Amino acid sequence: MIKNLINGQWVESKETFETVNPATGEVLAEVAHASPEQVAAAVAAAKDAFPAWANMPVAKRSKIIERLGDLIAENVEELSILETKDTGLPIYQTQKALVPRAANNFYFFAEMAKQMNGHTYPVDDQMLNYTLHQPVGVCALISPWNVPFMTGTWKTAPCLALGNTAVMKQSELSPLTTDFLGKLALEAGIPAGVFNIVHGYGATTGDALIRNDDVSVISFTGGTSTGKHIIANAGLKKFSMELGGKSPVMIFDDCDYERALDAALFGIFSINGERCTAGSRIFVQESIYDKFAADFAARADKISVGDPMDMDTKVGSLISKPHWDKVTGYINIGVEEGANLIAGGEKPTDLSADMQNGHFVRPTVFRDVTNDMRIAQEEIFGPVAVLIPFKDEADVLRMANDNEYGLASYLWTSDNGRVHRIGRQIEAGMLFVNSQNVRDLRQPFGGIKASGTGREGGTYSFEVFSELKNVCISM
Ligand code: NAD
Repeated sequence: MIKNLINGQWVESKETFETVNPATGEVLAEVAHASPEQVAAAVAAAKDAFPAWANMPVAKRSKIIERLGDLIAENVEELSILETKDTGLPIYQTQKALVPRAANNFYFFAEMAKQMNGHTYPVDDQMLNYTLHQPVGVCALISPWNVPFMTGTWKTAPCLALGNTAVMKQSELSPLTTDFLGKLALEAGIPAGVFNIVHGYGATTGDALIRNDDVSVISFTGGTSTGKHIIANAGLKKFSMELGGKSPVMIFDDCDYERALDAALFGIFSINGERCTAGSRIFVQESIYDKFAADFAARADKISVGDPMDMDTKVGSLISKPHWDKVTGYINIGVEEGANLIAGGEKPTDLSADMQNGHFVRPTVFRDVTNDMRIAQEEIFGPVAVLIPFKDEADVLRMANDNEYGLASYLWTSDNGRVHRIGRQIEAGMLFVNSQNVRDLRQPFGGIKASGTGREGGTYSFEVFSELKNVCISM
């Protein structure tokens, strides 16, 4: 039984739900479904624990946070297995990248917390202003299922390192590694009440959490419509909203072709395509469009799909049947809209017997897509690539910006002037140039338009997880 963690105690709930391995249909665990009263108890515990944690000397607090990083690093193998079983993500990614990155989240923010400083504003010899970053209080950390451990720790690490306390609600579809994190947090010496976990559905457990008046911050990662709903219903709180995306990849004929091809494939098919920053709208200059489409489809066809626990698998199972229905529904829409299906489009036929109930989709490629089609405009959140031709810089910028989202963007070109022009004009929170989303934890991560508000990462996480106070001294 996966229990809630409230005030340092593992607590069952009257109701439970199951978490299932999406690749096999195997029930992995019964999970306690936190009631509104249990959510209130978790928030109250976090509120009580806040003063002592906030006032702990930063070096001591950072040591505990670092220890949590060490414990994750020591348990990468077990955590990766749990994450892969719970989500269908390929083990090569959970073990090589996503879980190790979670340990780094704690190391990084333990260090950042020690370096937190403010500004001074002297006014002649009359006054001196200085600023203090102070912890805010109880933070609700709400996470989606697509890379749950990495996303959850990306929030937990700065939240706790900066002296706040937390109530985490992981997605009901992927609770296992968050449960493990709770155990490691206690082992690391995080005091009772500082880090709490409540499990359950968004409309029940999540709703009770966001409406609680003792919650001061909501750091939310998930869908745009959920984010809007939370902002409309949570009352006066600080929000960080990391929402959906439909990120453009702009490939010019002067690029390093092989690198661009590789990166475009990785950008849409890694993490099963269930990736907020997926390069899911691939714009290719007309002069290389036909060759690129043929090469892209041929490479997509060769990607191994199947058992996520197999190190050679590159695309595993989608998270659930409803999500599989959504993704394959979009494939049907693409065909109806008149786009040309040149790879994938269906469930693999060579799945092993134990994977027959899994939610697999072969890497799918559409060509001759126009930017107004639904498959080009809406977030599919699966392994479905759309290839759209463009004439020139103005043409691709117009189409890239003609979308409700603005999370990541990608540019492949050897023209430095173009890099700067597009850098200024692209409507996105992030532009990766000649690079496949290589993240540095200091960079601001986040989006504009329907992709969210606020930035997390490096000192930008201070804006979410600390309150800025100005002290003005008359001299
Ligand atoms: P979702 O919005 O359905 O759920 C996200 C989390 O919110 C879950 O824990 C869910 O239980 C909870 N939730 C749902 N309704 C709630 C409510 N009314 N009150 C409080 N909590 C509620 O999203 P999902 O399907 O789990 O994740 C996929 C989405 O997440 C995609 O749109 C993807 O782009 C986005 N995402 C964004 C980023 C980013 O950094 N921008 C990263 C990963 C995923």
